[in-house]
Amino acid sequence: MHEHDVIVVGGGGAGLRAAIAASEEGADTAIVSKLHPVRSHTGAAEGGINAALREGDSWQDHAYDTMKGSDFLGDAPAIETLVKDAPEEVINLEHWGMPFSREDDGRVSQRPFGGLSFPRTTYAGAETGHHLLHTMYQQAMKHGIQVYDEWHVSELAVTDHEDPSDRRCHGIVAYDVKTGTVEGFKANRGVILATGGPGQVYEHTTNAVSNTGDGYAMAYRAGVPLEDMEFVQFHPTTLPSTGVLISEGVRGEGGILYNEKGERFMFEHGYANNEGELASRDVVARAELTEVNQGRGVEDEYVHLDMRHLGEERILDRLENILHLAEDFEGVDGLVEPMPVKPGQHYEMGGIETDENGETCIEGLYAAGECACVSVHGSNRLGGNALPELIVFGKRAGHHAAGKDMKEAEITTGYTDECEPGDVDSPVEPGAVDTKSGDVAADGSGELTDPQAVVERTVEHERDRVQTFLDKDEGVQHAAIREDLQDSMTANVNVFRNEEGLKTALEDIREARERYQDVYVDDPSRTFNTDLLHTMETRNLIDLAEAITLGALAREEFRGAHWRQEYQERRDDEWLKHTLLRWNDGTPELFYKPVILEGENKTYEPTVRSY
Ligand SMILES: Cc1cc2nc3c(=O)[nH]c(=O)nc-3n(C[C@H](O)[C@H](O)[C@H](O)COP(=O)(O)OP(=O)(O)OC[C@H]3O[C@@H](n4cnc5c(N)ncnc54)[C@H](O)[C@@H]3O)c2cc1C
Repeated sequence: MHEHDVIVVGGGGAGLRAAIAASEEGADTAIVSKLHPVRSHTGAAEGGINAALREGDSWQDHAYDTMKGSDFLGDAPAIETLVKDAPEEVINLEHWGMPFSREDDGRVSQRPFGGLSFPRTTYAGAETGHHLLHTMYQQAMKHGIQVYDEWHVSELAVTDHEDPSDRRCHGIVAYDVKTGTVEGFKANRGVILATGGPGQVYEHTTNAVSNTGDGYAMAYRAGVPLEDMEFVQFHPTTLPSTGVLISEGVRGEGGILYNEKGERFMFEHGYANNEGELASRDVVARAELTEVNQGRGVEDEYVHLDMRHLGEERILDRLENILHLAEDFEGVDGLVEPMPVKPGQHYEMGGIETDENGETCIEGLYAAGECACVSVHGSNRLGGNALPELIVFGKRAGHHAAGKDMKEAEITTGYTDECEPGDVDSPVEPGAVDTKSGDVAADGSGELTDPQAVVERTVEHERDRVQTFLDKDEGVQHAAIREDLQDSMTANVNVFRNEEGLKTALEDIREARERYQDVYVDDPSRTFNTDLLHTMETRNLIDLAEAITLGALAREEFRGAHWRQEYQERRDDEWLKHTLLRWNDGTPELFYKPVILEGENKTYEPTVRSY
């Protein structure tokens, strides 16, 4: 059994920052990651990192923009922590050698981004995430952090207490992709989940194949609530054939959206009379699809994004990567013709419920980055606010897990006195088909508490599960289940939602769960068995699809990225609250907790959100 003080699951932006922070506090720290850290999906981030750095800007303005962008579902303590810590963190990156784009006078450049009242987005060309990962990986190496790469973490080792808030996390269990062995990792101080987003729940997504939401699902099975999962961001500018992202940086630099008639529809059809193309992402995505649905889309599918007028010199200086993407994936030369774009799944606003220190309701278990929900983004994330979230909250989680004395969090976690039970009219029974098959991480008996025994029990359990997959020689293959699930989510739980579609999705998810009982792995080998890995990931996708859809069906209002045909307005009187779903004995339990709008010096009053 491996043993460290702090174990970070995932080596992307959040994981690297958390590991560096834990190591800075003197903790023996390891990263366990299914990909090598610099291959993590953070490397795909193009546009930039928001931070109020310049004269004329302030953390207060950044906080207000973020709260407005969230459609007043973000928690003020989380948002204010983000915007106050972001400038110092960006300067820190610069000191670590991050090659930011610069002005002629040497200052780090900042560009406009959607929903921002000031050009606040720092960037490194259109390859910001790539440079971010490399800069932090160097620091991780400098700190001597041990990296177990190509280890796929499949379960958390938690004690068996009945109430998840009484549980303690003592480690993880991981499958070595190179050798096929299953081993335990004991964490003496804490486990930090930094496993990234769940984009593979959808068929058309900007996310990598590896983004299967494993961390969310592991925490969920261990009893930690998932928060606000119904809020899924659909980015307005993805390439139609592949879902590859065309950065918001293009619109930030002045790129224009046109419909098939050549109309600049964001203004001409009144979607955002002030900000136009730089309205918030949810607003632009709905506008594009409305154009297509009303017959003004190009080839009935997409719209055009034009950057030709920016000129070759500026495009090559700031957006060169975009030219390559458009050429490679659509065969379009962005210097001479407009690029085809349509909305695609991009980001999950919700996630593993944490406080400002990254702690979940299970002692010793933390989450940071896209898989966590603090909640900074509420019902809609502003472009450029995810990368600062990784470094600000990754660092805080690393420090806290390592034992640093920190200010007590204001945000509560778990089922507290503030929470109220919820109800959802699902057409099928949600949750596990058979809880004995390993779909719960703790049995509720309260008997198993010894740290070593807790990890060993989970190792045995996971070894059996892997062996069962390999021993079976007939059944259904994961790919068929996954494809049907992705298709249903894309058809029914997309930008525009209605009750009928959401119920259809829940029926399809139930069918996927039942088929999964019969799943088998065709490849019997123990070395780089991607068939086995994808089979394990598919279970996670099913859990997350269900959490997203249950939350969406229950929320009877239109807020941020969640639009409902039956309820086309925000309903603050009833719905100014966070959705929480926890999976204790294998049945999802829905409850709600209030949003915190009281900040340090002011209360954020929900207003009509227009751009
Ligand atoms: C194309 C694209 C462009 C974007 N551009 C921007 C931008 O310009 N600005 C901005 O603010 N945001 C942007 N975002 C959002 C932002 O980049 C992501 O939210 C963020 O990078 C996620 O970082 P992370 O560290 O949470 O996860 P990731 O970088 O995805 O890292 C996850 C890590 O977890 C590991 N992992 C996952 N599952 C397991 C498992 N079971 N076992 C072991 N390891 C596991 C992976 O190997 C990986 O190392 C963009 C997103 C996309 C998709």
